[in-house]
Amino acid sequence: MFRTVESQLSRLAVTAELRAEFLQYDFERLRTFCMLVFSISIVLWFVFDLVVSFEGGQGFTIKSIYFLALLGGLTCCVPFIRKAGHFYLLNLAFVTVYCLGARLVIDGIPPDLQPLWLTLTASSIIFLASVLPQSNFSFFAVLVLSWVLLNPFFRDVPVLELKGTLILFYVLVFSALTVYTHLRLRQGKLHNYLMAKLLLEQAYIDALTQIPNRRAFMTRTAARLEKSAPGQLRYLAMVDIDFFKKINDSFGHDIGDEVLQRVAGNIRDAMGAFEFARLGGEEFGVYLWELSPEEAWQCMDKLLRAVRETPSAHPATISVGLARLADGDSINQALIKADQALYESKHNGRDRCTYAP
Ligand code: GH3
Ligand code: MG
Ligand code: MG
Repeated sequence: MFRTVESQLSRLAVTAELRAEFLQYDFERLRTFCMLVFSISIVLWFVFDLVVSFEGGQGFTIKSIYFLALLGGLTCCVPFIRKAGHFYLLNLAFVTVYCLGARLVIDGIPPDLQPLWLTLTASSIIFLASVLPQSNFSFFAVLVLSWVLLNPFFRDVPVLELKGTLILFYVLVFSALTVYTHLRLRQGKLHNYLMAKLLLEQAYIDALTQIPNRRAFMTRTAARLEKSAPGQLRYLAMVDIDFFKKINDSFGHDIGDEVLQRVAGNIRDAMGAFEFARLGGEEFGVYLWELSPEEAWQCMDKLLRAVRETPSAHPATISVGLARLADGDSINQALIKADQALYESKHNGRDRCTYAP
């Protein structure tokens, strides 16, 4: 089954919208990890600065404090960022400040060691950036920025001599490797995200009517019920198509399916602001909240009218049982009450709504 869904996935067009949705999800999931990476980077820079300052006799200056404060300030912004795109900009700002701070420290070590330390620092920044949740463009920007600001050849290191050639070789191989692993990892994460999304959709959407199924309804309504304040007005409606068996028997199952899809469409149009689902067979459930009893009734009346008046060669009507949830009622208890009210609607002639007592 896994392979079957995977082959379905390979036929799915990965639109820019889906990619953006994945990047946003990835950032939200890894926000704490981003803060951890930023914090570890600051500690590394601080230790490096301390060692160079005291071992190298450069002394710890006020400039180091400024850089620390700036890097710390940027890290503290991460929890407040909502959009992944804003994080990419913040990350670029962090890398810029970090590189300038590293240049400041590296300027304090002997000149013949500087190319090596510039290379090591830029590589570390690029490696850490490659594990952060970011777009390809943002990662390439970090790569270019790091090598430009921490250019190991800035002190006229001859490229054609052994030292220069070795550094250039390392820069090229390291950059190619990190770009490759970043792209592969991102592709793998995107694949897993799309796979999970597809499987979830299949598990929670009714295949025939393309509206949420019973599992989705029970999960979502239970979550809403848990979050709702005591005393809030909440209702559960059971909707059942009238004489549906007759439609099947007279016109065939295909027409029955069409009627089911049409009624599901009516429910989606009329109840879009609330939770609704196909509970099974020709029965649907709707969960409504923050409405007065009259408003809930009017909502159902609107739905009854929409189903009745939708022009079709195979017209249908529905019956509704509406129950108000008391504090402490579970969804299952409300379903039982609504079902009893639905029975009353059927008993009294169908195409109507009845309130549970
Ligand atoms: P009532 O007005 O009392 O609700 O009568 P009814 O005929 O609608 O009631 P009943 O529950 O006896 O009939 C439901 C029928 O729905 C029986 C079943 O064959 C049919 N049904 C259930 N699921 C599907 C489906 O997915 N497609 C089709 N075409 N029919 C379905
Ligand atoms: Mg039924
Ligand atoms: Mg029925």
